[in-house]
Amino acid sequence: MSKTIFKKIIDREIPAPLIHEDELCVAFHDVSPQAPVHVLVIPRKELINLDASTKDDSALLGHLLSVAVQLARDLNIAESGYRLVINNGRDGGQSVDHLHVHLLGGRHMAWPPG
Ligand code: AMP
Repeated sequence: MSKTIFKKIIDREIPAPLIHEDELCVAFHDVSPQAPVHVLVIPRKELINLDASTKDDSALLGHLLSVAVQLARDLNIAESGYRLVINNGRDGGQSVDHLHVHLLGGRHMAWPPG
């Protein structure tokens, strides 16, 4: 199976300035931002999406959310509010087959999404 673009970023084969990295995940700004703040938090583990996760990934999934919460504080959008999005599969709008959490903020976002 060929590497996804996110796996190549994790392996430093494609440059992407990381705004966070630890033993479990990395985070960087989305190349096509949908809001003034649009960050992706990505596990180092190659999980295609949430549906590929198991109970063994519970701590990892929690960690991704914790990192997103901290980044929201660091990027000064915690007070104004933000949205976390995980697209899963075709109907979920997923385009890259490597699990990722979108952190979006810096503007008001309508609900429900289109
Ligand atoms: P999704 O549609 O949920 O799979 O989101 C994939 C996201 O990855 C999109 O918002 C893209 O803009 C973003 N993306 C794709 N390639 C890159 C890249 N090289 N660096 C940063 N973000 C990227």
